[in-house]
Amino acid sequence: MDPLEDTLRRLREAFGSGRTRPAEFRAAQLQGLGRFLKDNRQLLLDALAQDLGKSNFEAEVSEIAISQSEVDLALRNLQTWMKDEKVSKNLATQLDSAFIRKEPFGLVLIVAPWNYPLNLTLVPLVGAIAAGNCVVLKPSEISKSVEKVLAEVLPRYLDQSCLAVALGGPAETARLLEHRFDYIFFTGSPRVGKIVMAAAAKHLTPVTLELGGKNPCYVDDDCDPQTVANRVTWFRYFNAGQTCVAPDYVLCSPETRERLLPALQNAITRFYGDDPQGSPNLGRIISQKHFKRLQGLLGCGRVAIGGQSDESELYIAPTVLVDVQETEPVMQEEIFGPILPLVTVRSLDEAIDFINRREKPLALYAFSNSSQVVQRVLAQTSSGGFCGNDGFMHMTLASLPFGGVGASGMGRYHGKFSFDTFSHHRACLLRSPGMEKINDLRYPPYSPRNLRV
Ligand code: NAD
Repeated sequence: MDPLEDTLRRLREAFGSGRTRPAEFRAAQLQGLGRFLKDNRQLLLDALAQDLGKSNFEAEVSEIAISQSEVDLALRNLQTWMKDEKVSKNLATQLDSAFIRKEPFGLVLIVAPWNYPLNLTLVPLVGAIAAGNCVVLKPSEISKSVEKVLAEVLPRYLDQSCLAVALGGPAETARLLEHRFDYIFFTGSPRVGKIVMAAAAKHLTPVTLELGGKNPCYVDDDCDPQTVANRVTWFRYFNAGQTCVAPDYVLCSPETRERLLPALQNAITRFYGDDPQGSPNLGRIISQKHFKRLQGLLGCGRVAIGGQSDESELYIAPTVLVDVQETEPVMQEEIFGPILPLVTVRSLDEAIDFINRREKPLALYAFSNSSQVVQRVLAQTSSGGFCGNDGFMHMTLASLPFGGVGASGMGRYHGKFSFDTFSHHRACLLRSPGMEKINDLRYPPYSPRNLRV
């Protein structure tokens, strides 16, 4: 038998046996995940450094600690999340029991990208396990070192009859997608998101699509340029700009642009030194292919800060571009690298119009000392998430759902939202077998008497 088919059959049998349903089993798996993170901390830090030149600080906060906190949150709340949810009743069901049961879907597929290769595999995995599913985990083949740890070490900490790690790239993922899953959770590009959704449609499999796009960042005239520059610099160049929620471009007036430029230069020098290439705090581009793509984008508009690159190290300097045209590639595609165009607009209205003429982004940012301005941007636009006066801090709250809207994706996760995403919400009504007299009112032959029910 084909090994893939054999694996899927084994996982289905494990799910069918009911093994994953008890809270004790789910908790034991989550504890295993926690032990994997603790026991292999250094191995994971090294793998993240090899794949992306990630500093220990960035790897800790954005990969290891965030995964651990999701494990801890799920363990603390598992019993409560699993409880049937009582719902309100109408007159006809007053004596019955009405509730929502959260039941596992069955066999779920999680497909992950390379930019946060640990976080974006483990955080969905926490939700899938907590909800009682069996899982096929497909890490990115591009972040090779992390893929190796996930394939070789992670399964030792989990029940292997309920989890399989699938390896490979587009061809292998396409083969996986030919099979029927009960749920597919995909994180990656909109292009591949469409392939996944089309494959899922063949089996009517529900999907969550966590996609990317261009996240606008509006900077109002009424702001402190250095504060804005510090925050924008940190979250644009974090992970060398390879973050799905990073600001893709800044929208501001020509006057604010002139105040922001020296402030951005100041922040870049403060964070990464006079020679950012020598800084241990700046990551590297994941691959030659992406390096070449980003190098091409450096030719758009005019370089105001940075612009240097070194292929031998897959290094691209923290770069700020000005005078870019809307038609240039840097304003057409998701940048996903350490390049920040500053686009000028004459007013807040023009900024809002600029944002609304494009696909709905995964995240949207507005900086202003005026809360009315922030509120206006929030009210007159749409995006997966929104943060006023900072970068991607909204996604550090597990109490907020994380996900896109429109072209940036569908569905949500993090914390309890993950548990709910990986659970079918089954509508249940348990009626009494007695008291048949009451039901007489609804049976034919109909007469005006029935309408009194
Ligand atoms: P990608 O879409 O190229 O790959 C994602 C996954 O799909 C990988 O596991 C890959 O092996 C698989 N894949 C690639 N091509 C495929 C094909 N033709 N058929 C089937 N499977 C295929 O994305 P990426 O380059 O790994 O990641 C970058 C993208 O992910 C960016 O667009 C970014 O914005 C997005 N992203 C989104 C989030 C989010 O949470 N919304 C988080 C991180 C990254």
